[in-house]
Amino acid sequence: MRGFSHASVINEFEALTKDAGRLQRETLREILEQNGEAEYLHNFDLGGRTDPDSFKACIPLVTHSDLEPYIQRIADGDTSPVLTGKPITSISLSSGTTQGKPKLLPFNDALIHSTMQIYRTSFAFRNREYPIGNGKALQFIYSSKQAKTKGGLTATTATTNVYRSEQFKHTMKDIRSQCCSPDEVIFGPDFQQSLYCHLLCGLIYSDEVQIVSSTFAHSLVHAFRTFEQAWEELCTDIREGVLSSRITVPSMRAAVSKLLNPNPGLADSIHNKCSRLSNWYGVIPALWPNAKYVYGIMTGSMEPYLNKLRHYAGSLPLMSADYGSSEGWIGANVNPSLPPEMATFAVLPNLGYYEFIPLEKPEGPETENGTASTIHYVEAEPEGLTEVEVGKQYEVVVTNFTGLYRYRLGDIVRIAGFRNSTPELQFVCRRSLMLSINIDKNTEKDLQLAVEAAAKLLAEENLEVVDFTSHVDTSTETGHYVVFWELSSDAAEEVLRSCCNCLDLSFVDAGYVGSRKAGAIGALELRVVPRGTFQKISDHYIRLGGAMSQFKTPRCVGLSNTEVLQILCRNVTASYFSTAYSM
Ligand code: AMP
Repeated sequence: MRGFSHASVINEFEALTKDAGRLQRETLREILEQNGEAEYLHNFDLGGRTDPDSFKACIPLVTHSDLEPYIQRIADGDTSPVLTGKPITSISLSSGTTQGKPKLLPFNDALIHSTMQIYRTSFAFRNREYPIGNGKALQFIYSSKQAKTKGGLTATTATTNVYRSEQFKHTMKDIRSQCCSPDEVIFGPDFQQSLYCHLLCGLIYSDEVQIVSSTFAHSLVHAFRTFEQAWEELCTDIREGVLSSRITVPSMRAAVSKLLNPNPGLADSIHNKCSRLSNWYGVIPALWPNAKYVYGIMTGSMEPYLNKLRHYAGSLPLMSADYGSSEGWIGANVNPSLPPEMATFAVLPNLGYYEFIPLEKPEGPETENGTASTIHYVEAEPEGLTEVEVGKQYEVVVTNFTGLYRYRLGDIVRIAGFRNSTPELQFVCRRSLMLSINIDKNTEKDLQLAVEAAAKLLAEENLEVVDFTSHVDTSTETGHYVVFWELSSDAAEEVLRSCCNCLDLSFVDAGYVGSRKAGAIGALELRVVPRGTFQKISDHYIRLGGAMSQFKTPRCVGLSNTEVLQILCRNVTASYFSTAYSM
């Protein structure tokens, strides 16, 4: 294969991780030397020193809001070395689904290089266990709108910044993941039309497809839910060789029409296969018989989509992709055969300088069942990459080549083990507190566990939760939690009442349980919304400039997120209050 040898990539990874401590010190030195002129570093009197101790003594731990004024100045056209020595070439917009609004982040070539290093590394390990030949990938990837900042920089999502780069295309060829769809589809201005065309191009090249992937699992599930609705129309297009009139973007129409010739044989074969499937189980291997695996980020807030994805993937393995963010990359999945629930990410010690804030369990029982929610953990002094301890949980702190220094990423990870001398991380959850009325504290993970428990009652009725979110309703004197559910089809009232009670009982932190018993928090409310409601929410984010590739359903919608709250509240078809604490 051109310019790419699995063995050499794996050897390089082994060498990097064998000496992680030294590499960390070197990487920090390189970052600080490259950016020695940066105003930010001068503000803290680092005085040209590049060793970890001086760095930690002078530079404070920060969050995004501390850096915002600096990033804003860059976006507004300040070309002096504000955060970095080399110029920032573009601004990335984070998905914004955790905080309700996108964060502005600096982007430069270093991020493209690190993305390629991560992609190549995890591909080399995947390919060692699941080798693939030359072929294509059915990739559900989408760019976002590309705006200009006041200072003339491109502002778009980090994934779009990567897709736009030449290196991305070269690497995709090297790692045998060339997208079936032409660029006009990836960069199309209408996500629904792009999705339809991705499906169509995937079907046209059905025998060549070896990987089915997206950035996050949510887009994969969304794509196949759409396929369930659109398959007959897709067959008609293939049979007649004429693109559906639903594709109205001229450049997309022209590019996809070029690939389309009347092919009644293929259309019949797709039609027969789809007609034989039971409830779409195994649709991916049925239609893409040479696909070896399904790939995308499946951890963290993507876990709730795994059941559905397994259903579509049938016999094909699911492989969780790497761990990163708009801020930069953290680790590569070099254990591809682990199921997504157990996926780990080996930190690449040359991509940045990493610190970990230990989150210690407090003394004494914290919850009714004895397991403290991560939100209650107390912080200790940050530890270096090679100092972390297996089994412990930490918040990740990043220093990298794009001008982030001791930046708290807001993610909690658990150390699963070590690969040579670099840790392998398991993603736990976002750190931010989501549900809190008084002394209760619940994170995204706590909500996810509660929804999983209650969804078991639905599974007995062959129903599933399509998507979910939550809200704290304090409009009445005693506030209460609201959980919104979109279901696969209608559920009986009794079942939903039991689900509602189960949700209420599944929040086990002592603050919640105590407050519920004392009546300081009201009964949990389950509000059901009809099919398509969460699609309206993703449409809303995409209209604001987000990209489907990076979309994550917000798991808690606050009052400030007015439009999303309105979409949810306007659509409620039924509501139930828990009686769990009044029995
Ligand atoms: P964004 O910058 O908006 O794309 O979001 C980045 C965030 O997505 C990270 O900080 C994580 O919370 C989450 N994320 C990224 N990669 C993973 C992963 N492999 N597993 C779980 N969560 C992830």
